[in-house]
Amino acid sequence: MGRTNPMKGMGEGDGEKGSRELPHRPYIIVNMAMSADGKISSVERRQVRISGAEDRGRVDELKAGSDAVMVGIGTVLADNPSLTVKSANLRKARMSAGKPENPIRIVVDSEGRTPLNADILHKGGGVRIIAVSEKAGRAAQARYQGLATVIVAGEDEVDLLLLMARLREMDIGSLMVEGGGTLIASLFSRGLVDEFSTFVGNLIIGGKDAPTPADGRGFLNDNEFVSLSLMDVSEVDEGVLLRWRVKSRR
Ligand code: NAP
Repeated sequence: MGRTNPMKGMGEGDGEKGSRELPHRPYIIVNMAMSADGKISSVERRQVRISGAEDRGRVDELKAGSDAVMVGIGTVLADNPSLTVKSANLRKARMSAGKPENPIRIVVDSEGRTPLNADILHKGGGVRIIAVSEKAGRAAQARYQGLATVIVAGEDEVDLLLLMARLREMDIGSLMVEGGGTLIASLFSRGLVDEFSTFVGNLIIGGKDAPTPADGRGFLNDNEFVSLSLMDVSEVDEGVLLRWRVKSRR
């Protein structure tokens, strides 16, 4: 499916058949917009329009070229995103290539709190997945029947490594993650980010408790910090797009 997967050959193999090795997870691109002072929304966690038309077009293309797109439940509850491809031309191009009009849309949601009327479950065509933990598994399967596929991974919170392996088994080769900061921090801490793109917009949001691209508990030791290599810098709208490749832990 979808984009060429640079992870090819990096994961577990299909030894019995003697065929080419498959990666053990999708290729994962995190894409976010942040203010010039590094905030992704206001201190009230209210969605802020940070990027302009050009960047939104780029994000739409990135989404249309991905097999799946993911957010955390915090983002669903705060922003109610539909995660659909906005451009009719891009949707048409996907369908001409034999794909659904939207990539598979995934919510990481341990307790199955995604509201039944959330836009992600209703707007646009395509498959939806709610990833829950075992404590919510059975109830979530009943709750989302007919709306979304439920994947159970992990005991109390969603086990992201296990989830990614399941997604790869479903032939998801490329995954775009759109936030928020708690989910992204967990992905970084588990070594599950390949590329990190941030559009830095021309505004200051402020607030020491306003969300940032990688919240969570934070890394404490130098050897835990995630090391990046800069792939590209470009001026977009009235801001800057930074594209980083994740090297490794320092
Ligand atoms: P989030 O990252 O969207 O979701 C976090 C939640 O996911 C956790 O609280 C947890 O809730 C669930 N989860 C389940 N398993 C997890 C795991 N293994 N690791 C991490 N999380 C797991 O929420 P957020 O940090 O509150 O971010 C939301 C904010 O980000 C909003 O203010 C939104 O506007 C902003 N945002 C900004 C952008 C941007 O580009 N500017 C993009 C997206 C979001 P459960 O325990 O209930 O499962």
